[in-house]
Amino acid sequence: MICKGNKASEGLGIGEVFCYRPAELKVVQSYIAENEVSETLVQYEAFKSDVKNQLDSLIVQFQTVDPDQAKIFLAHREILHDDAIDEEIRNKIGKDLYDLAWAVETVYDGFSRLLSEMKNELFRERAQDVKDVRNRLLRSILGLKCSALSSLDKPVVIACHDLLPSDTATLDCHKVIAIITETGGETSHSAIIARSYGIPAILGIDGLMDKVQGGELVVVDAMEGELIIVPTEEQLKEYKEKQKQYLATVSSQNAYLDKLSMTKDGVRFEIGINIGSPNEVEVKQAPYADFVGLFRSEFLYMTSPGLPSEEDQFKAYKRVLETFKRPITLRTLDVGGDKSIPCLPLPKEDNPFLGQRGLRFCFEHKEFFETQVRAALRASYYGELHLMLPMVTNMDDIYKAKEIILALRDELLKEGVPMAPKTKLGIMVEIPSIALIADHVAKEVDFISIGTNDLCQYTLAVDRMNPNLSDYYQSFHPALFKLIAFCTEEFRKSGKPVSVCGELGGHPLAAVVLAGLGVRKFSMNPPSMGKVKRALTEITMDFAESLAQNVLSMATADEVINYLETELRGFTG
Ligand code: PEP
Ligand code: MG
Repeated sequence: MICKGNKASEGLGIGEVFCYRPAELKVVQSYIAENEVSETLVQYEAFKSDVKNQLDSLIVQFQTVDPDQAKIFLAHREILHDDAIDEEIRNKIGKDLYDLAWAVETVYDGFSRLLSEMKNELFRERAQDVKDVRNRLLRSILGLKCSALSSLDKPVVIACHDLLPSDTATLDCHKVIAIITETGGETSHSAIIARSYGIPAILGIDGLMDKVQGGELVVVDAMEGELIIVPTEEQLKEYKEKQKQYLATVSSQNAYLDKLSMTKDGVRFEIGINIGSPNEVEVKQAPYADFVGLFRSEFLYMTSPGLPSEEDQFKAYKRVLETFKRPITLRTLDVGGDKSIPCLPLPKEDNPFLGQRGLRFCFEHKEFFETQVRAALRASYYGELHLMLPMVTNMDDIYKAKEIILALRDELLKEGVPMAPKTKLGIMVEIPSIALIADHVAKEVDFISIGTNDLCQYTLAVDRMNPNLSDYYQSFHPALFKLIAFCTEEFRKSGKPVSVCGELGGHPLAAVVLAGLGVRKFSMNPPSMGKVKRALTEITMDFAESLAQNVLSMATADEVINYLETELRGFTG
């Protein structure tokens, strides 16, 4: 069977399906007979010990590679052995004759509710952890395959309804052959994570979870956006050949990784990488990157059991600076839209992408912003850290953020905390209103970085997450290039740098156009570096500039793509 979806991360994967169904924990209210009590208590101990073993092996697995993650599992082990929870479960079984699953669910839910209603933030944060341990224990009791994506036992193709950012944050990427989902578009965060690890992904496959059961062989052709469920021998042979060719192309692009990014006529580009967690500065392309142009700090909040403290964040930022030893652009918290964090008080809104997102949320909850900025300023002493603000709409946003940052700087100075003498401040250009006043912006900030994922969403009025609208989400729409051209030209008059950190910059066809529009810095998912470097070294600036001018005169995205494919054929494949 062949199904179609959105090509979200290039590549071709062949492997067995692992169905990830996180919401399947259904427990019914049921009771045991009195003579079953002692056996149920023995079972309880056995399941607890099974979960303890799972957590122990996760702790060992993460201790050296990701100590923060290991700490989360350590906290979960403490909850599993919590005396109060334990006693109440034993009472529910022994006195009220609840069956095991029902007792576990009732007691854990009660504790989690209690914690979530507390005034103290630290206690509230623990509620999510209690739920996590409950789910692990229930999965063990109900005999459900552990759905934790962090502990896959062999390489698989992950199939799921939706992969939430918090799922992808703990994903054991080395065991993921490909990702297929029912929802999500090209610039959803699942797609971004897949691309940063070079995992082929097709998102938005209609009715996917009814079509796969788990265990069957599939081909994920993310170049065509086609999923082949149980391929015939002949198809398998054909796709294995296609995969071989694809890998050969990737390796020829990667040959450009260690080359200087310079056009034939000597114009130099800086090529950076986007990262979502401190560990990603260690991806295989990282040694060839000039800088980190986007550190999506919200992923830290998603992997932490509660809110990461100032100290936790300071350590994480310091670690990235010390490991990478080149400039890091830390984007302040960008929650809202499709990124929700259980322990953050995000409002329920009809249009979250147009609502309290990014900087807007940070102004509403200044305490989170202040904690993060303090941590970042403290870390700035250990390398070159730049701060970048997301979702900036107007000049007031910039003035307000600067005031807070300056006040925090003064506070830290008074406390005698060492910091870099100056921390550069930049903004993301993601909203047309700010792109159109780039000349004014240039008077207030040190750099801008164009976030084409959101700029496309807000310019074309199309939800980047909605698979039904993927035809409308046209990253090559000439209107988007016009906006970028205007903003780049206006901002560059100040002599300050413009970079592009949205997905468009990682596309070799678009990168040439952006170069022609004046962009000299690109930050992208690491696997895109080779192909973008290749494209930029094969052109002259005259060529790129005339190509860009032609693109600006076009009417449709198709026209742009066809034109670029023809003009750039041969060195962007
Ligand atoms: C963007 O909007 O282009 C961007 C890089 O930010 P994010 O994808 O994290 O919203
Ligand atoms: Mg964005």
